[in-house]
Amino acid sequence: MRLLSTLAFIIAVSFTGYAQSPEIGSESFKKIEKTEAEWKEQLTNMQYYVLRKKGTERAWTGELNSNKKKGIYKCAGCGNELFHSSTKFESGSGWPSFYDYVNKYSLMDEADYKYGMVRTEVLCKRCEGHLGHVFEDGPKPTGLRYCINSAALIFEEEK
Ligand SMILES: [Zn+2]
Repeated sequence: MRLLSTLAFIIAVSFTGYAQSPEIGSESFKKIEKTEAEWKEQLTNMQYYVLRKKGTERAWTGELNSNKKKGIYKCAGCGNELFHSSTKFESGSGWPSFYDYVNKYSLMDEADYKYGMVRTEVLCKRCEGHLGHVFEDGPKPTGLRYCINSAALIFEEEK
């Protein structure tokens, strides 16, 4: 029985092609869970306030707001790849704004009913850290505007 199921597994694996060509990012994708104490230890006060307490930095104060360098924006909590500089645009909001994300492992969203508004909150899919919100008034081709706290991001320049 064990041999049969092993064989069935091998056949299934070779038919789906999973073993040969894993999807980009799938092998390294794993949810990250930490205690509040661990996050506090790892993050700066501002990063902790935004990522773990769903805080918002004041407009025009984030150092990546005006960043125009070419590279990748990663989650400040876990390093997950979130946005590429090619999708960053000047929205005039005072927060880094993007019209698209890197891949299906980057983001998850959730309805946010705070302050008497209905907004869509954007979180890092890997550590579920709060990043910002997404609005439907962005530029083409997506028409979306991901309004993201600079403190939730780490920028890695492309050489
Ligand atoms: Zn993260």
